[in-house]
Amino acid sequence: MNTQLSQAIQNKRDDLIALTQDLIRIPTLNPPGTDYRGICEYLDKRLRTHDFETELIRATGTPGDSDKYPRWNIIARRTGKVAGDCVHFNSHTDVVEVGAGWTFDPFGGDIADGRIYGRGACDMKGGLAASIIAAEAFIETHPDYAGAIEISGTADEETGGYGGVAYLAEQGYFNPSRVQHVIIPEPLNKDRICLGHRGGWWAEIETKGEIAHGAMPFLGDCAVRHMGAVLQEFEDKLFPAMAARYTDMPVVPEGARQSTMNINSIHGGEPEPEEGFTGLQAHCVPDSCRIVIDRRFLIEETLDQVRDEVTGLLEGLRATRANFDFELTERNSVLPSMTDRDAPVVQTVAGAIEKVMGKAPEYVASPGSYDQKHIDRIGTLKNCIAYGPGVLELAHKPDEWIGIDDMIDSAMVMGAALESLLLKG
Ligand SMILES: [Zn+2]
Repeated sequence: MNTQLSQAIQNKRDDLIALTQDLIRIPTLNPPGTDYRGICEYLDKRLRTHDFETELIRATGTPGDSDKYPRWNIIARRTGKVAGDCVHFNSHTDVVEVGAGWTFDPFGGDIADGRIYGRGACDMKGGLAASIIAAEAFIETHPDYAGAIEISGTADEETGGYGGVAYLAEQGYFNPSRVQHVIIPEPLNKDRICLGHRGGWWAEIETKGEIAHGAMPFLGDCAVRHMGAVLQEFEDKLFPAMAARYTDMPVVPEGARQSTMNINSIHGGEPEPEEGFTGLQAHCVPDSCRIVIDRRFLIEETLDQVRDEVTGLLEGLRATRANFDFELTERNSVLPSMTDRDAPVVQTVAGAIEKVMGKAPEYVASPGSYDQKHIDRIGTLKNCIAYGPGVLELAHKPDEWIGIDDMIDSAMVMGAALESLLLKG
């Protein structure tokens, strides 16, 4: 890469640190979705200073949007001197709940041993900061670049992205005629390119029974025993079938190359007593038992197959087990997404990693989904990857951190990618 650009990025080290700290100190917790307006205004001010044109867009009416918790997003665009491609860096601004076990202030942005600590440090305010520094250094070094650079800060990725990228994609912001290359700086490590993610299907299953006195269970029908039969079917048939399916997607960690399913919760019968309640339970046969399943599937499977596999087992029980009845309520679904290795953005960032780090990148795919799904399915923009600094395993954990050197290195890669895509001649 250009040594001037490399120098410009290194000169911005203090700026990068301060920017990351500022972003961490805006507590954009989701749920419920606090301070989206605040972080958008912060980014608006910053990017307008660097001659970006900005738009603040509220995703009115999307899940969770209210006057108390409005879903604000920002898109900033800086157009070059001549026509060319648009490179878009998309970061989500929301962070998950803090949780227990912190030794640092989760919204303090404290620095220790070359790391900045805080909720969202790696997922993904560090990536957002790195992309801003990369873009600003690139513009400074190559003021006559072609095309355009966009930077977005979007809401609600942690809860599905409906008030963020999905909304913007519906409004045409990710139309391939407007944006040609998308880099999402999620924390996938600075030498890895993430091509996409698995799909997901979430559903609640309820088994039905009949209430009766617990001393005479034969007068009722126990919904928990019916659910036991469901779980046994899963153990005997579904889990072994899923474990036998492997994907060609380079999903990490290795265990997620298979189809998987988690049972998120189970509840049947009397509600759990309040904490501190010392009374005894009444004796009743439960007339309802519910589980919530989280089924992650592969690009080689279809959503219909996934759905039919589970309902098939439940229908099988209805045909063979006395008095078995169930209700299945779908909660949400996400289709898998994977960008081709030959896609221009993949090739470009791969080349940039080689230039900056002197080695070939590792190609990975994510076990869980992120906003690429909306850019792909709603925006119909296929030329999209996740690439950014940070250790994925730290996301959502206590004492989350981002390495300052890692941010610098990935800003170099982003800068080198901009050179390849936006410099003519
Ligand atoms: Zn994230």
